[in-house]
Amino acid sequence: MINYIQEDKNICIDCRTRLSNILKPENYSDAEIHLLDKPKRMVSFTVPLKMDSGEVRGFNAYRVLYSDARGPGKGGIRFHHEVDLEEVKNLAFLMALKCALVEIPFGGAKGGIEVDPRQLSAGEIERLARSFIQELHPFIGDRIDVPAPDVNTNATIMGYMVDEYAKLKGQFIPGVITGKPLALGGSKGRNEATSLGGAHVLKTYFNHRGETLEGKTIAVQGFGNVGANIARILHEWGAKIVAVSDAETAFYAEEGLDIPTILEAANNGGLKQVSGVTTITNDELLTAAVDVLIPAAISHQITAQNAKLIKAKTILEMANDPVTVDADPMLRDQGIVVIPDIMANAGGVMVSYFEWVQNSSNDYWSLERVYGELEERITLAFGRVLDAADDTYLSLRTDSYRLAIDRIIEAERVRGRLSI
Ligand code: NAD
Repeated sequence: MINYIQEDKNICIDCRTRLSNILKPENYSDAEIHLLDKPKRMVSFTVPLKMDSGEVRGFNAYRVLYSDARGPGKGGIRFHHEVDLEEVKNLAFLMALKCALVEIPFGGAKGGIEVDPRQLSAGEIERLARSFIQELHPFIGDRIDVPAPDVNTNATIMGYMVDEYAKLKGQFIPGVITGKPLALGGSKGRNEATSLGGAHVLKTYFNHRGETLEGKTIAVQGFGNVGANIARILHEWGAKIVAVSDAETAFYAEEGLDIPTILEAANNGGLKQVSGVTTITNDELLTAAVDVLIPAAISHQITAQNAKLIKAKTILEMANDPVTVDADPMLRDQGIVVIPDIMANAGGVMVSYFEWVQNSSNDYWSLERVYGELEERITLAFGRVLDAADDTYLSLRTDSYRLAIDRIIEAERVRGRLSI
């Protein structure tokens, strides 16, 4: 059973705070502010799952299409025990801004199931993914809303979902979901896309300041897909990765860590498999004296409690929402430049868009083409943010939000939705 949700205060509280200095009457009309303030569509539903034991359980699930002004919805589906509507709304809103900022023709969406996948068998996860699509299929489509992997979901799960959708529609429509396995129309380069995009953003930032990445000291929090790949790429590009961490351990070496060796060891069970390196705490990693701190793990890592202790000069937000709303002004007062998540980690959704283009045209790109298009587009998009910024670079989040919102509003305006 699908429920349409109606609420008075639809936008999340954090978004309201961050937007309060942008969405002012002197910048936007009441109609424009009102349109941005509410998601286009929110659905909540129960996903039935037959457990291996034979018992049938129902899991809470949500899909929020925040904006479709610039194109179909786009955003991941997460399986997590803390998924709730507030989080999904927040993330859907950020997706709308991210797609607009990097000028890909999508709106913003997000979805999730409130479930702890560690408690499920592989068979239960597959049945849950298929059951989710059976409930949600009227609301998604390659021209309606296009899901993708997110926390605790992956290409294999997207494969089940696109297959279930094909069964329901009686035809294979690969563009309904991105982040699929290559054999089902996935794109080359998707795996490392977020990190490669972030590395290009950081390189562009230093170039804009007349500096280079070479020799810059960097600490990376999180050593999963995004953290490990960006550590590898930046190491290959000449930066000095002095600290890395995962949920269990953290390492530091003033002279720079041997990233290829760490990657090899970590591939077989995480950073705890690595030996012979000085361990530090996660808090020490966050407050290390480095040129660049890269949070690439989970949200809300830099807060009002530790912001004063941060010594990095620049923060590249590869995780979604790693800096809390109250930490933002503290970092600004300390002169710390924050390159916001909607820009820093947009490489992932950009290559998802390339996947959708390839699915639509049935013409599949080489890895070189994917990398080339990613570099060109993300560098151009960030160049526009930097051109809009002042020479302190201390308001990159506001500058990015402003550019993205202007593009969403312009699409709403030319659709005529502001004058109905
Ligand atoms: P992942 O699950 O592969 O890796 C997460 C890493 O963070 C793991 O190494 C884990 O051990 C570590 N971690 C978890 N809690 C931690 C803690 N308290 N302290 C230190 N490390 C901790 O996830 P991922 O795909 O690499 O995503 C990382 C972040 O990037 C998430 O915020 C995600 O939303 C964001 N992101 C990912 C993509 C993508 O394409 N994968 C795209 C955009 C944004």
